[in-house]
Amino acid sequence: MKAAVVAQGQRVNVIEKTLRPLKHGEALLKMQCCGVCHTDLHVKNGDFGDKTGVILGHEGIGIVQQVGPGVTSLKPGDRASVAWFFQGCGHCEYCNSGNETLCRNVKNSGYTVDGAMAEECIVVADYSVKVPDGLDSAAASSVTCAGVTTYKAVKVSNIRPGQWIAIYGLGGLGNLALQYAKNVFNARVIAVDINDDQLQFAREMGADLVINSRNEDAAKVIQEKVGGAHAAVVTAVAKVAFNSAVDALRAGGRLVAVGLPPEAMSLDIPRLVLDGIEVVGSLVGTRQDLVEAFEFAAQGKVVPKVTLRPIEDINEIFDEMQQGKIKGRMVIDLSH
Ligand SMILES: [Zn+2]
Ligand SMILES: [Zn+2]
Repeated sequence: MKAAVVAQGQRVNVIEKTLRPLKHGEALLKMQCCGVCHTDLHVKNGDFGDKTGVILGHEGIGIVQQVGPGVTSLKPGDRASVAWFFQGCGHCEYCNSGNETLCRNVKNSGYTVDGAMAEECIVVADYSVKVPDGLDSAAASSVTCAGVTTYKAVKVSNIRPGQWIAIYGLGGLGNLALQYAKNVFNARVIAVDINDDQLQFAREMGADLVINSRNEDAAKVIQEKVGGAHAAVVTAVAKVAFNSAVDALRAGGRLVAVGLPPEAMSLDIPRLVLDGIEVVGSLVGTRQDLVEAFEFAAQGKVVPKVTLRPIEDINEIFDEMQQGKIKGRMVIDLSH
């Protein structure tokens, strides 16, 4: 079967590979599609260590073809997903308390183990979340990573209906955060970005207030217009966005960090203490989060923007990604 494998020189080779036989508890998926994520770009560039030889991909949707011994959660014909959270240890304090993505012995698809950018993929059946009927596979692939990540972030923000949430960064992640915040949590949404195209799209998706932070002081506008946001989700990869988001919060507000700029943010300690500001990180989502994120997408509340591409385009897609040219999500079509 064809697979996109990390090669030397920050390239990806599409090669023929044969998977090993299934072990206890595993299932074999015949892949339909797999989204291309910024994380894949980091993996293939060796930013997280040398991963030469690993099959990329953690936004995969496939049909169960075969199950190994002991599998009860999946059966042949089921449609299931391959997410970044491939498997936890199943018995540590994080796995046992609804925080399985923080497991210290976590395995990640397309990184620790071979991923979904291939015609076939082996999953641990109990960790592969089923896709509900009525949700298109390409859309589901985006929910598997970007969708669940932003759904979880909005959930972690503790936003309540009618409250104001500021989303910093309206790219692929931010746009889904907006849709979950607006259409699932019934929040009022402030979109903050430096790109007018992204902001225009945010407006079309229902943002209540749109701010271009290149021209305006977003925190100041948010404080003046709505009295400060109850929560902020930052998907932007610039520390200025994090600093602005803290300043945009009202007392008791909560900032949820999703973007990963390789820098430290400035935190004014008196502001944290006197105004009871909270700053928390949110990392992808648990299996249950993914079940919920899928369900809302199946109900049509969240619609990812996807473009199907052949696997042979993979290096081209990474080049486009590096140049910031991608709108929405590029999804590798593995069904042909
Ligand atoms: Zn991803
Ligand atoms: Zn664990």
